[in-house]
Amino acid sequence: MTPQTPIEFQDEFDIIVIGAGHSGCEAALAGARLGCRTLMLTLNLDKIAWQPCNPAVGGPAKSQLAHEVDALGGEIGKMADRTYLQKRVLNSSRGPAVWALRAQTDKREYSRVMKNVVENQANLVIREGMATDLVLGKNDEVLGVQTYFGANFAAKAVIITTGTFLGGCIWVGNKSMPAGRAGEFAATGLTDTLNQLGFETGRLKTGTPARVDKRSVDYSKMEVQPPDKEVRWFSFDPEAWVEREQMNCYLTRTTPETHQLIQDNLHLSPVYGGFIDAKGPRYCPSIEDKIVRFAHKDSHQIFIEPEGREIPELYIQGFSTGLPENLQLAMLRTLPGMENCVMLRPA
Ligand SMILES: Cc1cc2nc3c(=O)[nH]c(=O)nc-3n(C[C@H](O)[C@H](O)[C@H](O)COP(=O)(O)OP(=O)(O)OC[C@H]3O[C@@H](n4cnc5c(N)ncnc54)[C@H](O)[C@@H]3O)c2cc1C
Repeated sequence: MTPQTPIEFQDEFDIIVIGAGHSGCEAALAGARLGCRTLMLTLNLDKIAWQPCNPAVGGPAKSQLAHEVDALGGEIGKMADRTYLQKRVLNSSRGPAVWALRAQTDKREYSRVMKNVVENQANLVIREGMATDLVLGKNDEVLGVQTYFGANFAAKAVIITTGTFLGGCIWVGNKSMPAGRAGEFAATGLTDTLNQLGFETGRLKTGTPARVDKRSVDYSKMEVQPPDKEVRWFSFDPEAWVEREQMNCYLTRTTPETHQLIQDNLHLSPVYGGFIDAKGPRYCPSIEDKIVRFAHKDSHQIFIEPEGREIPELYIQGFSTGLPENLQLAMLRTLPGMENCVMLRPA
């Protein structure tokens, strides 16, 4: 906020970008490539371009965005074309207007490659730190950013791309903890500044499924989902295209046992137990939401997707839940092929 005493700035920039997720990296690269001296501030240098949920790029309503960012000189399309584990065009049985290219990417490789891109971009400085306040002038114009431990950086413009971190909170059953996303702390301070400046802030809810060890899964009971025979690309630049070996995904389904277990325990979920007042997102409802909202359906598709080439973690797509951790393994084991599965991370 407006300081009472003169502020000592460590360094001066044209632009400061707060955040190094998909949007922060694109904003910082765009600024630097336009010749602006740019600082990208982020909570953890080891989590640059870390994908918080499924490491997927594109899909319905999102593939166009990735193509458009590429056309504007952005990086997400090139990144997906370099780090994919599997590519498929979704909705290909329908008309071309709804075709959507989707890539399952390697989460760790994606982050590593993007870190390398931003670290080697001219005009771009990267710094670990939590922005807790904006430094404002007499007329509330932005002069810079202050970090939690008191460093100040001056800038002509500040871009905030803080994702799910501002005052973030994780719920599993009736237990909660402050967190930006699993395993990372929440960001404090900046929300108060934004509120004092007259911005309205609210709370959104999303979810993520448990992760399972692929060595504990029986794929013979599932339907194989192979990659497309002909690989397609997000980027319009053929030099960014990397032909690589692809991996299979698999399809299983919820069973009457899954539905019964969830119905019997609905009151233990944060939404249905009334611990939080939130509606889930339409794009990715929890499995308990699907079972309540689509009660007439006796089964739902569950896609089993790898999170990396060199790690055993599988993402259980369609099985996001807020139910307690001690129920989650039993729920997973009701799915065909997952009867003996080992859970690596809870939902
Ligand atoms: C569990 C979960 C499930 C999700 N599922 C989906 C999904 O299915 N589909 C979908 O499209 N999206 C999903 N999302 C949303 C997802 O966050 C975004 O799609 C995407 O990651 C947003 O990118 P971003 O760059 O805006 O933010 P993020 O990727 O969240 O990056 C935010 C960055 O800001 C940094 N940061 C935050 N606060 C500060 C601060 N004060 N100072 C310095 N740095 C700071 C963080 O360190 C991080 O680098 C999900 C999110 C979560 C947590």
